[in-house]
Order: sequence, then C-alpha cells, then structure tokens
Amino acid sequence: MDQPLTVPPGRDVRLADFDPDFHEGLDREAADKETREHLDALDGLAYRLFAEAKRAVVVVLQGIDTSGKDGTIRMLASGISPQCLDVRSFKAPSALELAHDFLWRVHAAIPPHGRIGVFNRSHYEDVVVVRVRKLVPKDVWRDRYTQINAFEKLLHDGGLTFVKCFLHISKREQRQRLEDRLKDPKKQWKLGPDDLEDRKRWDDFQNAYDDALTECNTHHAPWHVVPSDKKWYRNLVVARLVRTTLERLDPKFPPFDSSLIMKLD
Ligand code: ADP
Repeated sequence: MDQPLTVPPGRDVRLADFDPDFHEGLDREAADKETREHLDALDGLAYRLFAEAKRAVVVVLQGIDTSGKDGTIRMLASGISPQCLDVRSFKAPSALELAHDFLWRVHAAIPPHGRIGVFNRSHYEDVVVVRVRKLVPKDVWRDRYTQINAFEKLLHDGGLTFVKCFLHISKREQRQRLEDRLKDPKKQWKLGPDDLEDRKRWDDFQNAYDDALTECNTHHAPWHVVPSDKKWYRNLVVARLVRTTLERLDPKFPPFDSSLIMKLD
C-alpha cells in the first residue's frame, strides 16, 4: 500500500484525501531503524553542505496544534550536528514585526549558505491562522499566496531548497494529545486558551490549509503531506525527505589547495 506525499502543482490539495494514520504497514521498530539510518546519512550530508557553503535548505514545519512540530525538530537535531542547523520558531508577531511586511521576519530567519534551517511554523501562519482568527481582511491574506510564491522563488533562485512539510493528524488524535497535555504536569505549560479555542475551528483550519497547500504548491517549493498520527512514522518520512533532498543537492567539499602541504613546517 502506498500514499503519495505530494500533489502535482496546479491540482487541488484536499487534506481529507490523505490518511493521517498511514504508515506503509511498518511497525515502530522497523520505522525507528530506518529513521536512524537516514539520520546517520544526513549528518554526513549536512557536513558537506556546511563545507561547501554555497547553498542552504529550509525545512518548513506546519500543522495544527499538537501535530508534532517540536518532536520533529528534536528528531532532526538528534542526528545533525548543531553547527549545521538553524532552528527558528515563529510565534504571534511582535509590535516591531507587525510594523513591517509579513515576510520581513521570515527573510531575516533564512539561514546562510551551508546551513539547514528548520522553521517551527512559518510565513504560512500569515495565510492560515490570520485567516481563521480574522486578524487581517480577506483581500490582504488572499494576495499573500502570490507574494509567498514569489518570495520562495527568489530564495530558490538564490540557492535555497525548501522542504515544506505539513504534519497531518486526525481530529481524534489531536483530542488524545490535548488530553495528554492537560493531564501531564510536564506538558501542561504547552497549553494555552488559544489551543482549545482553535480546536473548535478545526474545519476552518483544514480549509485554510487546503487552500494554502493548493495555492503555494509550486515546482520550486512543493508541499509534502506527512501522515503524522504515528509519531515514529512522521519522523521516518521527514528524515527520508530531508535526506533525499540533500542527496539530490549532492554538496561537494571545496577543492583542496595542495600547495598547503608544502607550507606545513
Ligand atoms: P507553538 O504552538 O508553536 O509550540 P505557541 O504555543 O507559543 O507555540 O504558539 C504560537 C502561536 O503563535 C500559535 O497560536 C500561532 O498560530 C501563532 N502565530 C504564529 N505566527 C503568527 C502570525 N503571523 N500571526 C498570528 N499568529 C501567529
């Protein structure tokens, strides 16, 4: 059994068509083993990207509350050297950020050549949460799809590769995770009133994501819908995607200046 992760650009993305519990028939042990292999390979690939210092990668993590963005970052960071990683979180914008265009803070967070950025939320909040919570008028967020596509093209042409992951969980799985957080003193701090309010607007969020994933699914920066009800399968898919991306980039160590050998006294 297989389930495509991507939809060809130009076609409608409907999250309802994707099974959030899909796991290729794998069990946890097999998935964890494969994830570990991808992470081992990734460490070397990230090191080469760092040494080459000509291109960069940004892994965008989006998803509804509790979809597993933090856990995915922990997984990537468990395999890739911190000097090659640049983790950024996008919260509700500050007064300074709101005094600029919506992409200002995102552009400032783009990693320099050689690094892998991991975005915990991103500019997609500006077409999803702002739409659902009615923080800006419709004609403002609607124009942002085109603005985002142009922004991502600019970065792509400058040597940046996006790996855009939508962590897809079911409404039932979210309930379970919220309940776990409510009961666990080590997780309660993660919950705010907005999380429970946003759950009431589940369908609005799914619709907003359907549109964002459809409108901003481009050849230069495609979206991947990652089945995420099983955390271990989500980890496997993201590790695999990032590894495949870096293998495609095939970063090279800079040429060695052999005259240096003569200079060692
Ligand atoms: P997280 O849920 O990512 O672990 P928080 O609980 O601090 O972290 O939530 C961050 C909040 O900031 C989320 O509710 C998210 O929707 C909100 N947010 C992020 N970007 C924007 C934005 N551009 N406009 C409004 N709200 C935003």
